[in-house]
Amino acid sequence: MKLPIVEVGRPRPYPPRVSAFTKRFWDSLADGRLTTTLCRECGKLTFPPKPFCPHCWSAEVIWAELVGRGRLYSQTVVHAAPGLFAAEAPYRLGIVDLEEGLRIAVRMIGGETPPNSTGRWNWWPCVTPTGRSMPRDRSAADAI
Ligand SMILES: [Zn+2]
Repeated sequence: MKLPIVEVGRPRPYPPRVSAFTKRFWDSLADGRLTTTLCRECGKLTFPPKPFCPHCWSAEVIWAELVGRGRLYSQTVVHAAPGLFAAEAPYRLGIVDLEEGLRIAVRMIGGETPPNSTGRWNWWPCVTPTGRSMPRDRSAADAI
């Protein structure tokens, strides 16, 4: 499933560290697909993707595409940002529980978050053409 792509209109302050292993993740993200690794031994997903399974230490991992939908578990607004992100403050960060059972930390864009949005299925990861992953707030009508 392709996710909507959102261009944020500013350079990325902290570029991704692309390696021979993570290149596939970043290329997929730039194409609107959120991927990670799945262990063939124990069947568990891991995020961020790793060349081995941190649950059973197997190196038998394969790439798996995630649906990209999740529940907002928690959120905060950063006003006193680290130097690299100071120009972007204030900005919102969130913790999202993906449908597949992974919990990820995200940067949130898309306007104000309704106070009752925590725990609802109304967050989708979005990506920019440069591969910056950002969940975007969906309207209440999109929530389940
Ligand atoms: Zn495993």
